[in-house]
Amino acid sequence: MAFEGLAERLQGTIQKIKGKGKVSEQDVKEMMREVRFALIEADVNLKVVKDFVKRVSERAVGADVMKSLTPGQQVIKIVQDELQQLMGGEQSPIKFNTKPPTVIMMVGLQGAGKTTTTGKLANVLRKKYNRKPLLVAADIYRPAAIQQLETLGKQLSLPVFSLGNQVSPVEIARQAIEKAKEEHLDVVIIDTAGRLHIDEELMQELKDIRSLKEPDEVFLVVDAMTGQDAVNVAKSFDEAVGITGVVLTKLDGDTRGGAALSIRAVTEKPIKFVGMGEKMDALEPFHPERMASRILG
Ligand code: GDP
Repeated sequence: MAFEGLAERLQGTIQKIKGKGKVSEQDVKEMMREVRFALIEADVNLKVVKDFVKRVSERAVGADVMKSLTPGQQVIKIVQDELQQLMGGEQSPIKFNTKPPTVIMMVGLQGAGKTTTTGKLANVLRKKYNRKPLLVAADIYRPAAIQQLETLGKQLSLPVFSLGNQVSPVEIARQAIEKAKEEHLDVVIIDTAGRLHIDEELMQELKDIRSLKEPDEVFLVVDAMTGQDAVNVAKSFDEAVGITGVVLTKLDGDTRGGAALSIRAVTEKPIKFVGMGEKMDALEPFHPERMASRILG
């Protein structure tokens, strides 16, 4: 399960302070030392850990806590609240265009789960938001990506727009948006080209697609299992192309949690969805509050 190690360590640590009728500065210091280790071990970005520890410590030794009747529990509440803030505070909704079609660009490196997530997102949009999505196969570089999207479209009974792999992604995106307008499909989800590594060419291509029609959302799909690499990828994509949100995939695996806890703080972009499996219904909105309570048990 995701976050298992982190949850276990944090729960063990806070258990010690929970029932205390009095919490000294020394108690808080000791607890925060353990929290710090737990976060570092979970592969959370070092600066994020440092800032987090500082914020919690400052609040935990504050007068309100020390004077309260249940200081131990107050401290735990502060940890929980700051964890939630670290992951963005509130759930971040999808931004739809008031003038359809809404354009959503899916970007990311190969293997992160971009094509799968494109299908899952379309499924969510239809089922939960009552939208009519058009899936666009613009990942012309990964062999079989186009076919994979077509198969997902068939499985979901949703239309897929494709022009093979000899037409440029920009042209594919342009024609797809036209088609959506003609056929009154109200969300266009573009599965853009992935690459093995971030390179100039990829970023330029994404910028070209962006310049066609300003997308309402640019979702970066990253693999939670890759920890700090995922955070670095998010930072690079955001600086080069600009992203509006993150989809963190493979959270059904045993990821330590570093990506989920660092991405928001490092990029200031919210995690919008999490992938919880390979199936088409395994995409969930990301709820910072629920995630924080899950970690703290
Ligand atoms: P792309 O290269 O980024 O388009 O990656 P794919 O969509 O082809 O996904 C790569 C692999 O990751 C596939 O085997 C997917 O089934 C798998 N995958 C994608 N999302 C998830 C997820 O949330 N959980 C799990 N367990 N596997 C996933």
